[in-house]
Amino acid sequence: MIKHHPSDDILVEFSAGSLPSHLALCVSVHLQYCSTCRATVSRMQTLGGELLRGMDGVELSDGLFDAILDRVELSESVQRTQVVKPIDLLRKWLPDGLQGLNWRKQWFKLSEYVLEVPDKGNWRFSLQRISAGGIAPFHGHRGNEVTVVLKGGFSDESGAYDEGDFIIKAPGDRHKPQAFQNEDCICLTYLEAPVSLAGPLGKWIEKFKALFGSQDAVPSH
Ligand SMILES: [Zn+2]
Repeated sequence: MIKHHPSDDILVEFSAGSLPSHLALCVSVHLQYCSTCRATVSRMQTLGGELLRGMDGVELSDGLFDAILDRVELSESVQRTQVVKPIDLLRKWLPDGLQGLNWRKQWFKLSEYVLEVPDKGNWRFSLQRISAGGIAPFHGHRGNEVTVVLKGGFSDESGAYDEGDFIIKAPGDRHKPQAFQNEDCICLTYLEAPVSLAGPLGKWIEKFKALFGSQDAVPSH
């Protein structure tokens, strides 16, 4: 069951079409799993239209916003919102879905498949896979990390995440994800900056990397 959703702020930006494309894609994938957020986005889009039509100059407090949002009827377009398989949104990179991917091993039970994006700068867009029951290295975040669980699930110090869950880790967050025991966990992940490994072993590896100048980011999951 989905328990972790994008914040209202993110859904507002998404509805207005003003999210950066990588984040919009992550939200779109979540929406394929989550009827609650689909309904919210539809209401926000309808509300956006209403506001443009006649509410210029009205000061919009959070309370008023919620009250209006509650009253907005689901428009016809909502009923027609097409739900596709989440993986279909990633067809450009994954013509055969999750089959036959050339996973690159990152850690004992953690592998990665990078989704190539032009001009990506320092960030990284990829699939992360942790084998059933496997544990990813304990690591800290230097930038935001957005994760949508595509298959299976994992848990960390903050909770458990199932298919469709949308998770944002902020700079400074540290965690050690572990895949559920019964199946491999595959996530879509957008990482703003390379993570830093934590814990004694992680610190040793960080030092080693610094010494030998490896530019390889160790992904989180
Ligand atoms: Zn949702």
